[in-house]
Amino acid sequence: MCVTTKKAIILRYSEIYLKGKNRGFFEKVLLNNIKQKLQSFKYELTRISGRYIITDFDEIFEENIINSLVKVCGLYSISSALQVPNASLEDLISVCKKIKIETENFRVTVNRANKNFRVNSTECSKILGEAVLENNEGLKVNLTSPQTVLNVDLRENGDAFIFYNSIKAVNGMPVGTSSKGLLLLSGGIDSPVAGFMMAKRGMPIEAIHFYSFPYTSELAKQKVIDLAKIMSEYTGNIKIHMVKFTHVQESIHENCNPEYMITLMRRIMMRIAEKIAKQTSCKAIITGESLAQVASQTIESITVTNDVIKTMPVLRPLIGMDKDDITEISKKIGTFETSILPYEDCCTVFLPEHPIIKPKMDKVLKEESKLNIDELIVEALNNTEIIDVNNL
Ligand code: ATP
Ligand code: MG
Repeated sequence: MCVTTKKAIILRYSEIYLKGKNRGFFEKVLLNNIKQKLQSFKYELTRISGRYIITDFDEIFEENIINSLVKVCGLYSISSALQVPNASLEDLISVCKKIKIETENFRVTVNRANKNFRVNSTECSKILGEAVLENNEGLKVNLTSPQTVLNVDLRENGDAFIFYNSIKAVNGMPVGTSSKGLLLLSGGIDSPVAGFMMAKRGMPIEAIHFYSFPYTSELAKQKVIDLAKIMSEYTGNIKIHMVKFTHVQESIHENCNPEYMITLMRRIMMRIAEKIAKQTSCKAIITGESLAQVASQTIESITVTNDVIKTMPVLRPLIGMDKDDITEISKKIGTFETSILPYEDCCTVFLPEHPIIKPKMDKVLKEESKLNIDELIVEALNNTEIIDVNNL
């Protein structure tokens, strides 16, 4: 018996399915993002019961398609499958007889969403398991800890999908289902991870980077562009606002108590970030801070830097995370190798020997009064260049 089958890729959504009335909006954004990712491929896409099915693609690109889709926020998992349209039990038996399994043991797991299918899922698993055994000499069934699981998904519309395993995707929410956030992007390990974490909750990302040329090099700037490019595979297009911060740092260095260098610098960074966020319709500022990681990340330091932001929240998705866990995510998303390249960040320029760990607001304000803050900010804003990392 000749059964028509075709290669298919199954895409399962994440928690979008929990959404009530506005689920349609989340699905629409997800679908747009998927299409954006697959721009350069030929394929057909259909939707069946909380999944998308991709078919009619050139099989040599299957791996490339899957590798692109694992980076789409809002997708939970992806399987490479064989679709049996309008499958009868006989069709499935015939397909299963042709399956070669290389491991010593296996099991068949049937998921019967199609309640009209002739036999129930337990019965069906047994019948299809026997069909597989027919042409796999020596293969054993192991129901409790099989080396291979052959999944057979019987969908409501009568189609069946046969697949081995599912690859975990990013999960989370589709980028674009939240308003935009402005990420303070340094060249380190943490801030790209922070941006990724917020994108994974649906937030498009715009970035701001402060550099201190000639104290920091052109290579340090390029590193940030490279990091944003890697992040953009998950977040979609990223624009970076490159702010020349040299004069701000020189002014603090010349006029203020060195212990307050970092605190003052960070308060000015935050003020500039809030201004750019407003200009670009960003509704939040994002940083890669993690409590107690360095002197500028004690709760007292965070309090005095946070104080200058008046109109939007500062999101710190890494605040309770350990460096190991942050590093693990940066390796997973592919930013780690670039992050550890040894170029200076402006935070390390004029670094005091003893930065203040628990700054007091009155002392900070006193130091700050020695600066012409408004002028420094206007000057820095005028010395800002916008780089569209995906159009370079
Ligand atoms: P990272 O690994 O992200 O560089 P870090 O451990 O080096 O973080 P800090 O240097 O204290 O920590 O910076 C804390 C946060 O401040 C960073 O995660 C980032 O969001 C922001 N930040 C630091 N330096 C810069 C910079 N040059 N430009 C933009 N944002 C910065
Ligand atoms: Mg840093």
